[in-house]
Order: sequence, then structure tokens, then C-alpha cells
Amino acid sequence: AKQTKRGSFTLYSQDMSETLKQRLEMENALRDALQHGHLTVYFQPQCNVQNGHVTGAEALVRWLDPDKGLIPPSDFIRLAEETGLIEQIGELVLRQTCELGTEWRARNLPALKLSVNISPYQLRFVNLVDMTRRILAETGFTAEWLELEMTESALMEREQEVIPQLVALQEMGISIAIDDFGTGYSSLAYLKNFPLDTLKIDRSFLEGIPANRDSRQLTQTIISLGHNLNYKIVAEGVETQAQLDFLKQLGCDTYQGYLKSPPLPVQAFMKLIDPQQQR
Ligand code: C2E
Ligand code: CA
Ligand code: CA
Ligand code: CA
Repeated sequence: AKQTKRGSFTLYSQDMSETLKQRLEMENALRDALQHGHLTVYFQPQCNVQNGHVTGAEALVRWLDPDKGLIPPSDFIRLAEETGLIEQIGELVLRQTCELGTEWRARNLPALKLSVNISPYQLRFVNLVDMTRRILAETGFTAEWLELEMTESALMEREQEVIPQLVALQEMGISIAIDDFGTGYSSLAYLKNFPLDTLKIDRSFLEGIPANRDSRQLTQTIISLGHNLNYKIVAEGVETQAQLDFLKQLGCDTYQGYLKSPPLPVQAFMKLIDPQQQR
């Protein structure tokens, strides 16, 4: 029995060091990617529910590895948060987005609200207000065309520290969106404590539409209560015309999802929004 125990212990610790080794390799690869400019931003259009016009876009980070190809954020954001690398990644995404926003305006492309994801780590350990102010100044982008997305849990965990940051950002003209709404534990009543402009209904609600009665009712409730609180409502993960029709009936403001377009590399996104190229 002892023999077996020792045997399995050895195996276990080998597994552990294997995992640690993989993590370290991944961390080094991510540092490398940052240094070599292998991280870039894709854009997914956000559209007016009633007329379909593109009114904005969400910036989503991508790691383009020369060997492995495209690595999705689900594979590296958590590690980036655990290692603090998210600070640099967050800054890179915001800077690229603001630079592009300024460039698109200079080219007379339609004005779009550009939305950037903010990690809980940034709310806690980075001076988000200073960083954002600096990047807006450096890139010449207009605060009124920038939106920052944060999850419920990021706000809830540190309410006292977060609220003054949100107020300062809003005073600059930036919009604040709550991301993945409905997946956490916060109620709309609780959200009133925070200065928010936009509420993004999580994709999981849309998955159940039109088939699931609960999903339909929850979505309807979120939209009507959200509107009572004066939030702009964005539905995420809209994949079918039936889902869009339902949102239209409910008076939802904006939608985002594969029905219109997946997140696109910059050139393809510019083509999509350029009225010259659509003719
Ligand atoms: P998220 O902020 O909820 O972003 C929406 C995700 O849903 C994106 O995945 C997008 O590609 C995907 N999506 C969009 N439309 C549809 C649809 O119709 N159907 C389905 N099934 N999926 C759709 P992505 O780009 O892989 O990003 C995953 C998550 O990684 C994001 O979720 C966000 O939490 C995080 N993330 C992405 N970029 C950044 C970033 O720059 N900074 C931070 N902190 N997190 C980021
Ligand atoms: Ca988001
Ligand atoms: Ca989301
Ligand atoms: Ca999400």
C-alpha cells in the first residue's frame, strides 16, 4: 500500500510541476507576444435594433501567434490577470482603439462609439482614470465616443473604491457599461448605486430566445426595468433573425452578435463601416 501511495504521490507532483511549467511557458510567451506586437484588437459591430445601422463596436483583444495562429482571450486573459500582464494588455487595447477611432474620424468614416473591456484587476491595481486621460490626450480621441465595459462582480467587490473612479470617467465624458448583465448576483436596484450608462444583457439570455419562456420574460424584464433607469440596453450574442425580431418588439436599443458579424480584424471592419465600399 505504501508503495502505491508513494507511487501516486510522485505522479501527482509530476503533474503539478508539469502544470507549473506550462504556466510559466505561457506567461513567457505572453510577455514575448506583448514585446513583439503580436497582440492586436478586433472589432465587433454594434447595431441599432430598429434600423440595423452600425452605431458602435466592441474592441476584443486577439493574440496572433506566428506558429499557433489566433489565440482567443479565453486562453490568456485569466493568466494575464494573475500575472499582472493585464495592465499592459489593457493599456495596449485602449491605445489601439483610440488611435484607430481618431484615424477613422480623419477618414470621414461614420462616428462610432468604441467600447473597451476593463478587467477587475485594472479597477483595483491600475490608476484607470489617469491612464485613460493620458491615452485620450495622446491619441486625440474624443471621450464622448469611448465606452468602458466592466462586469457586475468587478463593481460589486470594491464598491467604495470603484464609484469615484466611475464618476471621474463620466465627468470626462466617457460612458460606462455593465457587461454580462444577469450572470452575477446583483439586481437592477443595486446597480442604481453606480453611475452607469449602458447595460449589456448577457448572451446566455439570448440563447433561450425564442424557445425558452423564462429567457423571454427575463429579457423583457431587464429591458423595461433598464429603460426605467435610463440605461441604454445592448443585447449580446444575437445570432438569429428571430432573436432580433423579439428585441425589436421589446424596444431594445442595440444588438451585437454573429447575425451581423463576428469580431473582425481592422481592415475588414473598416470595409464593413465604410459607406463608399458598400455600394
Ligand atoms: P465579452 O466581453 O462578453 O465579449 C463578448 C464575447 O462574445 C466575444 O468573445 C465575442 O467574440 C463573443 N461573441 C460575440 N457575438 C457572439 C455570438 O453571436 N455568439 C457567440 N456564441 N459568441 C459571440 P471573445 O472575443 O472570445 O472574448 C471573450 C471574453 O474575453 C470577453 O467576453 C471578455 O470578457 C474577454 N476579453 C476580450 N477582450 C478583452 C480585453 O481587451 N480586455 C479584457 N480585460 N478582457 C477581454
Ligand atoms: Ca465585453
Ligand atoms: Ca459580454
Ligand atoms: Ca463575457
